[in-house]
Order: sequence, then structure tokens, then C-alpha cells
Amino acid sequence: MKQTKKFKRILIANRGEIALRVMRSCKEMGIKTIAVYSDADREAQHVKMADFAYYIGEAPSSKSYLNSDKIIKAALELEADAIHPGYGFLSENAEFAQKATDAGIVFIGPSPESIRVMGDKLEAKAAVMGYNIPLVPGTAESITDVALAKQKAAEAGYPVLIKASAGGGGKGMRIVENEEEFEDQMERAISEAKSAFGNGAVFIEKYITSPKHIEFQIMGDQHGNIVHFFERECSIQRRHQKVIEEAPSAVLTDEIREEMGKCAVDVARSCNYYGAGTVEFIVDEELNYFFLEMNTRLQVEHPVTELITGFDLVKEQIKVAQGEALSFSQENISKRGHSIELRVYAEDPQNNFLPDTGSLNTYKRPQGVGVRVDDGYEQGMPIPIFYDPMISKLITYGKDREEAIERMLRAIEEYNISGVKTTLPFGSFVLKHENFRGGGFTTKFVEQFFEASLLDTPLNDIEKEAAAVLIHLSQQNISNNQGVEEKVSNKRVSKWKERLK
Ligand code: ADP
Repeated sequence: MKQTKKFKRILIANRGEIALRVMRSCKEMGIKTIAVYSDADREAQHVKMADFAYYIGEAPSSKSYLNSDKIIKAALELEADAIHPGYGFLSENAEFAQKATDAGIVFIGPSPESIRVMGDKLEAKAAVMGYNIPLVPGTAESITDVALAKQKAAEAGYPVLIKASAGGGGKGMRIVENEEEFEDQMERAISEAKSAFGNGAVFIEKYITSPKHIEFQIMGDQHGNIVHFFERECSIQRRHQKVIEEAPSAVLTDEIREEMGKCAVDVARSCNYYGAGTVEFIVDEELNYFFLEMNTRLQVEHPVTELITGFDLVKEQIKVAQGEALSFSQENISKRGHSIELRVYAEDPQNNFLPDTGSLNTYKRPQGVGVRVDDGYEQGMPIPIFYDPMISKLITYGKDREEAIERMLRAIEEYNISGVKTTLPFGSFVLKHENFRGGGFTTKFVEQFFEASLLDTPLNDIEKEAAAVLIHLSQQNISNNQGVEEKVSNKRVSKWKERLK
């Protein structure tokens, strides 16, 4: 039986909102916290909140937050019992987990072996074989023979995806529409995988044209117990990356939810998992679901699960790492109400979501019942260009989906940020959209429905004039103006009218 050992000090190998998030749970558990920081973060909130802080290097993450040796040195010097990696940076780095363990420091996460297996898409598929887990039709092994690959693609049915086994973060995927382009795309996929990931292994998956992305939160202890905390719906994505998440999903039936939950627990069991993890599925229009991959860490979007289940997932992670058995079983986990998260990025939704740079000249958080803001900033602070441009996570809770949505719209209105462009107006666009309201939206939402001109961003004087002219022209059917009405749809005209009010 695994010995339990209460931690006295935890080093948080991260920055920004997630570092603060982890520290808060540590404080509630009476555990002292150690921050690490780079040159760009000398004044950062996570450094101020921690009991101790350790400088680890220059601003680029390769010289600081990704420098495993410096982080382990900090942990040893400041006598940390454990390291919490947060998400991103070193959180899914099996070598780092191993190094920490070898140095006598507990890595708050799964074993290095679980991280390694689930970090490779093909190894993950191999691990779950024998557990009756539905996989996307295609090949479950690396394939190099083009003729054979072509045959497999035809069997799966076009369009297909060629995926790099070592890919991640939405990179290393190619869509092939038909047999004619197959050979060319496969050669490109292999050479890209070699240069980007140092591993040319690729495989084929049927491309599910309009899927939903639904994931399950799981948690295991070191005594063989594994449970799930229901699902999160994460289909609103731009560049294959999530922007809005919610729990529970508006479309799953209780029956499918239970089946998928069991499946997620089995995926975790297949790699002897312990700690917090997420099992991702894609779900087609008929609610057939397929295992996609497992993320072996805490996710950005974990708060929506916390709000509907009442658990503090970071505390549970820490207890598991201390060697404790889960103090609850599946039957003790229930959900109540609905929660939505909007990732507030310093990005310009008018300009293809390009990261925007600058300082938070005004920064006033929304407040009130059912609103949680996880952030790492204060008014006046610059958004460092070196890291992820996420300013905060705005999370709302309501007794049902409708209330969570209305509350989010209210909170977006109350959130006052100036100095950088943000995804707040994009959030209100999505939350007001009938397709989102209906719940049937897919990962194609942004491509299908989003148009920058539909955003409710404040108009400047020139834009106001232009909008007035546009409306005027669209109302006149003068001969030299033919075509304007075609270009300016009625819907858009009424939107401009509303914005000019
Ligand atoms: P990564 O490791 O890069 O995140 P994933 O395999 O998790 O890669 O896929 C990322 C996203 O790509 C998914 O959320 C989904 O939107 C899309 N995707 C992946 N596989 C498929 C597929 N077979 N069919 C359709 N979309 C897919």
C-alpha cells in the first residue's frame, strides 16, 4: 500500500491564472507555495501571491518555464515536497516528471509512463485496444506504404485525415478530400511530421465532417480507483483551439453520458492512470462517439466541471499525489446546474484572432452571483508577448443553461477592458447566436457562422459614417448601385442599424 505523506511546500512550475488557481487551493490546505518567474514576470501576480519566489531566467519560455533543470534546482533549494506543473509548459513532459521523481520531488500528475503512452496518438490507440473503446475508423498503426494507406483510406471513406502520431495542439493534421490527392498529401504529411516532431509516423482517420468535441474529466488515485466528473462540451474552437466550453453538454442523453463516462474511465485504466486527466471524444451528428486522445494534466476549462460538481479538482490532485485514496466513489459525484467558460484572449476577433499586444489600461472585472474570473492580471499591467495571450477565464454558473448564458452575457457587458483587443465581443456573438442557443453546434461553428462585421465592438466615427452610407445605399434601388443589396445581406444591414442606435 502506498504511503501517504502530507506536503508542506509545493512549487508551481507555471505562471498566470493557473499558478494563482493552484496556489489558492494550496493555501486552503495549509501548504506553502513557491512561485518561479522569468524576467517578464518580476511584477506578476503569481510572484506576489506565493510564500516564496525563485527567479528562473530570461523571458522566452525555453529559457525559463521550460527549463526543467532550473525548476528542479529551485524545488530542491527551497525544499519543495512536490511540483504542480499546471497546464502547458512542462505539464505533459514525461522526462520532466521522471527527473522530478528521481530528485525525490513528487510530480503532481500521472506517472511518466502514462504521460508517455498517452502523449503518442498511436501508442494511446494501442493501449486502449481490448477495452472496447470506439475509435474513429481508419488505421490504428503507423503506415508508410502508400498503396496500402490508399486502400485503408478508401475503406474508411473520404474525406480522411492524415495525422502525425506525435502531433499536438492542432498541428500535424492534413485533410484529404479524394483519392487523387492522397499520395501527394501523404508524402507531405510524413515530411512535415519528421521536421516538426522528429517522428515521421502517420496514420489515417476518417474525417468526421461536422463533429462535436466532448471530453470527460477523470480522476484516479494510486490505489486503482478511477472516477469521472461528467463531460465538457468544447466545440467552439478557432484554429482547432477551444474558446468557449460548457458543462454539461446540451445534447447528450443520460444513457450516452453514462456509456461515455465508463469509456473514459476505461481509457484511464488502460494506462494505469492516476491524477486528473481528460479523455477527449469526437461525436458525430447521430451521437456516435469516438475516442480521440487523452490529456494527462489539468485542463484550462476545468472550472466548469468544478462549478457543476462542487469539487476542487486541484485539491483532489494534491491529495492523490500525497498517496491518499479518493474519499468518494462514482455514486457520490453528481452534477447540478450549468456552467460556461469564455477564454478572454488578447486577440483581435476582427482580424483573424491575431494576438494583440499592449497593456490593460482599464481592467475591471465583472462581479455578482454566479460569476468567477480566473486571471493573473491587474489594471495597468502589460500582456507579455512571450506567452499565451490569455488574459482570463470568465466563468458563469446558473441553475440551467439559459441562466448560465444570460449571466455570461451580463458579465461580458460588465467586464471593462481597454488597451488591448479581446475575445469578449466574440463571446457575446456566440452566446447570442441561435445555433449556439439550440445546442446542436459543431467544431465548424466559427467557419459557418462567424463574420467579423457582426461583432458588437464600439464603432469609431469613420465606421459610423460608413455604416450609415451602407444602410442608405442598401435601401435605395438606384441603377448605378446594383449589386449592393446582394453584397449587403438584410441581416447585416439590420445589424448595422442596431449598432448605430
Ligand atoms: P491535437 O493533439 O493536435 O489537439 P486532436 O486529435 O485532439 O489533436 O484533434 C484536435 C481537433 O481536431 C479536435 O478537437 C477536432 O476538432 C479535430 N479533429 C481531430 N480528429 C478529427 C477527425 N477524425 N475528424 C474530424 N475532426 C477531427
